[in-house]
Amino acid sequence: MSTNPIKIDAIINGETYRTEKQEPRENPAHPDEIVGYAPINTMEDTIKAIDVAHETFTTWRETPIDERVERMRSAIQKIKNNTPEIAELLSREHGKALYDSEGEIGVSLMWMEYACDNVKEVLKDEVQDHDNGKTILAKDAIGVVSAITPWNYPISLSTIKVAPALLAGNTMVLKPSPLAPLAVSKVIELIANEFPPGVLNMVHGEAEVGVELTSNPKVAKIAFTGGTETAKHIMKSAADTIKHMTLELGGNDAAIVLSDFDVNDDRAMRRLVISNFLTAGQICMIAKRIYVDQSIYEQFVEKYIEAANKWIRVGDPFDKNVTVGPVNNQKQVKYVQSLIDDAEGNGAKVVKLGKILDQNLFEQGYFMQPTVVLGADQKDPIVVEEQFGPTVPILPFENDKHAIKLANDSIFGLTSSVWGKEEHAIEVSKHIQAGTTMINTAAVQGLDVRFPFGGVKQSGMGREYGKEGILAYTDTHVINVPENLDLPYIPE
Ligand code: NAD
Repeated sequence: MSTNPIKIDAIINGETYRTEKQEPRENPAHPDEIVGYAPINTMEDTIKAIDVAHETFTTWRETPIDERVERMRSAIQKIKNNTPEIAELLSREHGKALYDSEGEIGVSLMWMEYACDNVKEVLKDEVQDHDNGKTILAKDAIGVVSAITPWNYPISLSTIKVAPALLAGNTMVLKPSPLAPLAVSKVIELIANEFPPGVLNMVHGEAEVGVELTSNPKVAKIAFTGGTETAKHIMKSAADTIKHMTLELGGNDAAIVLSDFDVNDDRAMRRLVISNFLTAGQICMIAKRIYVDQSIYEQFVEKYIEAANKWIRVGDPFDKNVTVGPVNNQKQVKYVQSLIDDAEGNGAKVVKLGKILDQNLFEQGYFMQPTVVLGADQKDPIVVEEQFGPTVPILPFENDKHAIKLANDSIFGLTSSVWGKEEHAIEVSKHIQAGTTMINTAAVQGLDVRFPFGGVKQSGMGREYGKEGILAYTDTHVINVPENLDLPYIPE
């Protein structure tokens, strides 16, 4: 494993570009190790990248779809060939366990392949013959897409945008998060190299670059994944030039455990634990509040703690026994700890879960011991806010109606899950306000790239994945060919 700090570049018009200003990115498991440096691009760099994408759009949108698919398929092959090194780099800069990094790349490839396999069918003209001639519904590319992505799943949340946007004939400027920019930059470079210069560009930086990407008049669409507060800034920034938008935002996903859930079903309990603590809880669609029918609450808590103690093994992301790595950054550790402290201060009981495999390492890095919080109130910040870390509150409910009320009592509506007998769980799921509800599983375990994903309420707008995730990068262009060309009510 190479431990020399790596440097990454911006990509503008097919050329790599190294800036003067560079930000170090430390390894969250060993914060004294610098994994690499991310460039900080200027506003001028960003404008240049947008200009290039804008100029390239005219030719790229006319490029035959077979050629676009062929180029994307060779990019997929390049990523496959480089997966071990990319996964290793992702674990070093992000902190997620190696199996988790490999899983993220696997999902990215699955989606890119789905997009290649389906784009021709999804984008083909729909011709409708009717009583007044015919109408063709064509799917046009939109233009320059600004893609802005977060640190928690940097590769999958970038490729989820890059693949459909480019396949549909758009050009793009992508900005990854400065908190995990290294592995995703390698992936973007591999993809960009398979396309004509200017089709896929990448700049780095924080809000200054982000504001240009979301306000520049040459940008036609914003594809953003990140926090709800950032999305509010983006909507304001984009308002003057009325941009198309897909927003994938925060979640505070409820898991409802019904009275007929079998607390002795070890596999189901393991799935629930994973859906709380995978990637140290730093997933938008992780189950962040568990509501349990009061008739089984006591037994549930006992069995849940037992299952969590078995599955959670905290340590170095490269240790094969480790299931939970460190939190990505110190700011996040402090935030999650403040929610736990607040709940404890209000009288809740905090139970530590799992094993710490290396106490020395644990004390050096941005590690947190996973916890479950018992006795919190529905109004406590640990229940109301998106924790985005390795802790979860468990609360009892009186009956199904009460559970639905508690689950819907949130500004968010990304995913949710219902656990119990299938029919009963499906019935309850229909009353939950969420983009996706999973039955007897949750989080990425229930994700299927063939179907649309996205949030309701303040968890976002628009959908990624599935056919909708490709159509999101098109406008419907109606070509009307009427038989009766003159309107009868207009006087001669
Ligand atoms: P964030 O909102 O802080 O940052 C996301 C991106 O926006 C980064 O690239 C950041 O540099 C950029 N940015 C910051 N200020 C900006 C501005 N003013 N204009 C334009 N861009 C700006 O989010 P984060 O901390 O990186 O990620 C965590 C959040 O993302 C959580 O809320 C999580 O739930 C959410 N998320 C949602 C999904 C989903 O699919 N719904 C998936 C993953 C993460």
